[in-house]
Amino acid sequence: MANGLVIKCVSCGAKNRVQPHAAVERKPICGKCGVILPAPSMEPVIVTDANFAELVEGSPTAVLLDLWAAWCGPCRILAPTIEALARELAGRVVVGKLDVDANQRTAARFGVQSIPTLMIVKDGREVDRLVGLQSREAILQRLKAYL
Ligand SMILES: [Zn+2]
Repeated sequence: MANGLVIKCVSCGAKNRVQPHAAVERKPICGKCGVILPAPSMEPVIVTDANFAELVEGSPTAVLLDLWAAWCGPCRILAPTIEALARELAGRVVVGKLDVDANQRTAARFGVQSIPTLMIVKDGREVDRLVGLQSREAILQRLKAYL
């Protein structure tokens, strides 16, 4: 597999392969239409029933999705780990958070029974799932195959 990260052009949809340092230090442009590519997100993106298809199933990179709810204690404990992973993996993995109370359609579709649940999605399909509170190391271990 080639090195570098893939950034999808917001203008024409072309997938551009960019070296990670270039994406952070200067603004790479789309090889097809020439617009400036979006910087990789350094914080978890908010995933909803409405944008799940675009942000998760349509992601050119693997997605780590944290399914959580405000009333869930372990979810709050996990939150800083998810935020740290979003910074650490920016551009290589899309890290997202989905509130299962506000987005019951997606939670039901994937049969999420308890939270926190972490889903790993690659090429539009769920490829792995971790249920319950996890350490950063445990999450990275499972993600490694999809980086
Ligand atoms: Zn473009």
